[in-house]
Amino acid sequence: MSKENRLVDTFGRKHQYLRISVTDRCNLRCTYCMPHDGIVWKKKNELLTFEEIIQLAEIFVDMGVDKIRLTGGEPMLRQNLIELVKRLAAIDGLNTLAMTTNATLLADNAQALHDAGLTALNISLDSFQKDKFNAITRRNDFDNVIAGLNAALALDFRALKLNVVVMAGTNDDEILDFADFAFNQRINVRFIEYMPFKDNQWDAKTVVTYQQMKELIEQKYQLTALSNEPSAVAKDFGLSRLDWASGEHLIRQSAGSVSFISSMSDSFCSSCNRLRLTSDGSIKSCLFYPAELSLRDAMRASSSRQEIEELIGRALYLKPEAHPPAEAIMVSDNRTMIEIGG
Ligand code: SAM
Ligand code: SF4
Repeated sequence: MSKENRLVDTFGRKHQYLRISVTDRCNLRCTYCMPHDGIVWKKKNELLTFEEIIQLAEIFVDMGVDKIRLTGGEPMLRQNLIELVKRLAAIDGLNTLAMTTNATLLADNAQALHDAGLTALNISLDSFQKDKFNAITRRNDFDNVIAGLNAALALDFRALKLNVVVMAGTNDDEILDFADFAFNQRINVRFIEYMPFKDNQWDAKTVVTYQQMKELIEQKYQLTALSNEPSAVAKDFGLSRLDWASGEHLIRQSAGSVSFISSMSDSFCSSCNRLRLTSDGSIKSCLFYPAELSLRDAMRASSSRQEIEELIGRALYLKPEAHPPAEAIMVSDNRTMIEIGG
């Protein structure tokens, strides 16, 4: 019998998905994520310990979470991450343990992560062109990322996805290259609309909408909608195209698929099922709202299990019905993306 979900907010939304940031540090400096002047890094003692992460993850799973994603900063910079993955994977009731990574350190660790119980992996890559990739990330790691991507493709993760933040005038000329990649490889390419955060160079003109991306891809491929879970943030499609082979037209189906994350043009707040835990232990019920409550401080003040659950309930109570408009997000005192983890 499935357990009752106790993570329900004032608008009736059930929360099954927890994103845990395990560090605010990163070895890349993506223009759309990391403010130009950097951020003030958290001190080691401000971060949740592994014990605290496990304890909170167990509480969340008991309350209804069945999917956890590790993120950052760059999660693979956290020491002994594979140990944490093993311990999280052993939590009874957790169905999906995922991670989002920039893949700079993945090539040598993909197998160990897979064997430790990671079931799903998202790799972020915004350009197949080395110079452009290095300009976007303000570092020089293109070859390492491609090696990481290839290592992941060689394994059988239950889900393997490629995250592409599409920015007008920067990488929108590569949309079809990414669609070709999804056509040829067993991977889900996720085109993400560029979202505003404090100091991240966002401007309405840099957003390429879901509709624009879809129309462009349809010039080459036929897109067929794949069934979505009601709370899915992505609109998912298979690709097919007519090919001429040995004098005959053949319909070829894609090995992978494409998705669009339309946070700006068609937000999915009404079915949002996500909660976030920052690396310093604050619970955020909305990506774009500054409201946070510190579960870390409560744990370090020896709060009881019931008191922690009440704090989580309070965060749910504070969850807004929908996120504010982009202009308000840009000037709010919300954390930067790198400090939240996406
Ligand atoms: N460092 C890891 C990585 O890059 O995959 C994990 C953390 S990163 C903050 C998580 C995801 O957020 C990445 O896929 C990144 O592309 C996405 N992201 C960051 N800033 C964004 C923005 N302004 N708009 C849309 N997506 C963004
Ligand atoms: Fe680092 Fe990921 Fe942000 Fe890029 S998107 S700066 S890799 S945290």
